[in-house]
Amino acid sequence: MGRDRGLKCRQCRREEEKLFLKGDRCYTPKCSIEKRANPPGEQSKRWRSRKSPYLIRLREKQKLRRIYGIRERQFRNYVLSAKQGKGVAGDALLSILERRLDSVLYRSGFAASRTQARQLISHGHFEINGRRMDIPSYLVKENDMISVKESRLSWIKEIAAANKERTIPHWIEKDDARLKLQVARLPGTEDVNYTIDFDRIIEFYSR
Ligand code: SF4
Repeated sequence: MGRDRGLKCRQCRREEEKLFLKGDRCYTPKCSIEKRANPPGEQSKRWRSRKSPYLIRLREKQKLRRIYGIRERQFRNYVLSAKQGKGVAGDALLSILERRLDSVLYRSGFAASRTQARQLISHGHFEINGRRMDIPSYLVKENDMISVKESRLSWIKEIAAANKERTIPHWIEKDDARLKLQVARLPGTEDVNYTIDFDRIIEFYSR
């Protein structure tokens, strides 16, 4: 299964909540969920009335995968990696997802959405510890320094200014003047406020 390329608002309606996939529009009355929250498709009512444990786990997993815009295979690999660690698998999964470079840039306001963050990274506009980084799935490490390529400073500054209201996670230190981010520590569950049941996602991949 590849990345969801369908209409992003349709994905939110499928999950029956805002997943914030379209940047600025998500915060306006134009948001489709604000106007019409019911899931798309003729079968939706019937589907909702007979949710099996399997379907509940499936929807939890799809919701999280869609928030981060990750392909199924990569998402599965993240889950396997999280399960191999010593701690709670759900916590480890969240930490992995948050450490993705595209997510870090989105959280820090350097991109309007994770989709835009992926584009900016792929086009080589960012550096990690002074070296060009064009892999959106790069997992940041403690003390990593993320900076903007010199020639793109004014452009990214405009994007950052438009997103200046975004709350920067505590585990990232932001230098607004020089457009630099420092990873002060790795993220934990206390850093993200989701209503997602991670145990169900882990269970989904334990079948
Ligand atoms: Fe989802 Fe609303 Fe954003 Fe569309 S505008 S992607 S429905 S949050």
